[in-house]
Amino acid sequence: MWSNRLENPIKRRQSLQVMVGHVPVGGDAPVVVQSMTNTDTADAEATVKQVLELWQAGSEVVRITVNSAEAAAQVSTIRQRLDALGCNVPLVGDFHYNGHKLLQAYPDCAQALAKYRINPGNVGKGSKRDEQFAAMIEAAIQYKKPIRIGVNWGSLDQAKLAQMMDANAQRAEPLSSEALMREALIESALESAAQAEALGLPANQIVISCKVSAVQDLIMVYQDLAKRCQYPLHLGLTEAGMGSKGIVASTAAIAILLQQGIGDTIRVSLTPEPNESRTREVVVAQEILQTMGIRSFTPLVTACPGCGRTTSTFFQELAQQIQRYLRDQMPIWRADYPGVENMSVAVMGCVVNGPGESKLANIGISLPGTGEVPVAPVFVDGEKTVTLKGERIAEEFQAIVQDYVEKNYAPGGRLRRSTESKIISIQAISS
Ligand code: SF4
Repeated sequence: MWSNRLENPIKRRQSLQVMVGHVPVGGDAPVVVQSMTNTDTADAEATVKQVLELWQAGSEVVRITVNSAEAAAQVSTIRQRLDALGCNVPLVGDFHYNGHKLLQAYPDCAQALAKYRINPGNVGKGSKRDEQFAAMIEAAIQYKKPIRIGVNWGSLDQAKLAQMMDANAQRAEPLSSEALMREALIESALESAAQAEALGLPANQIVISCKVSAVQDLIMVYQDLAKRCQYPLHLGLTEAGMGSKGIVASTAAIAILLQQGIGDTIRVSLTPEPNESRTREVVVAQEILQTMGIRSFTPLVTACPGCGRTTSTFFQELAQQIQRYLRDQMPIWRADYPGVENMSVAVMGCVVNGPGESKLANIGISLPGTGEVPVAPVFVDGEKTVTLKGERIAEEFQAIVQDYVEKNYAPGGRLRRSTESKIISIQAISS
């Protein structure tokens, strides 16, 4: 069976490795998926519930807002409740403006967090800025926590930008305003990181991000940043937006950088639809990595788009049902059937491409198109094994998938792999 997942042309940028709790970021660690809650952290119950959902969906690190005394006071309770529920996902505290005070006033919070996110543009103004930044770095040193210097286009240090604009105006060939903004973002991040190191924080406790909302700007910023430092890089488009626009813009930017070997952890910042689960950003991040052949998380379903040869929605429903079934099974399968995340399943709409595509998958089904005999041949490892017909095609196909998983991925099974091997090794080269 052909699979492009065994070959990977990506040459990964060499970066330092930072431990975020028990999760390594950078170096030879797999690209980490992370997410962020949108609950009020002062509401411990709601925050625990959402962190759990994100973790169960596959988020390996979760960031929470720590914006007030009430929020900071709940962080250690949130940590304890998650631990009691068997959820050890590292929590990152997102601080703006008052982080220096909160970390000092709430030592339990400082201890419970696995990393502090510091936005250099929101640390403080004027002479207070350096003092407040230093207080946060001292807390990181005291509690042995890494930090992320997270610069954001929308909250760039205005004093720094004004200074750079003045200097630019004096140049014989001034940079364009866009190029100047990009340079200001990078300099803000690198200067803050250098300042943190000068205060005593080891380089391998620093992660960097420089987020913007336009795809081309993000690519240019990270390409430059990648050449100018060895810190692990956190990728993500900020304010990506809602629905398909948010997904497409994030995917375009993140995928291009990952293909160039840039990026050690990713977050897809989607604005959820009203009442939509927050977990969508985790699923999208996983799918970016999996469809690029970088990591595997859940068996993927290959489904044809359908066309005039299919007059019913049956095959679309079956593809959707099988994808949902596979995702729902993963919390159990992950432990019992290592390697199952690499399984491929094809659900095709007619005989034109159906049998061919089905033979390439571990398991495939070719449903009948318009005017075709109402039967559905099933292919297992390239061989036709059974032909389904009647009302229960969906249930019978699901049972075949379950049987395949048990036979092939259970301990001693033919396709069982160690949990380590699910990460495709990407050769590290010097940046
Ligand atoms: S496999 Fe058949 S139904 Fe699906 S897109 Fe191709 S021709 Fe259309």
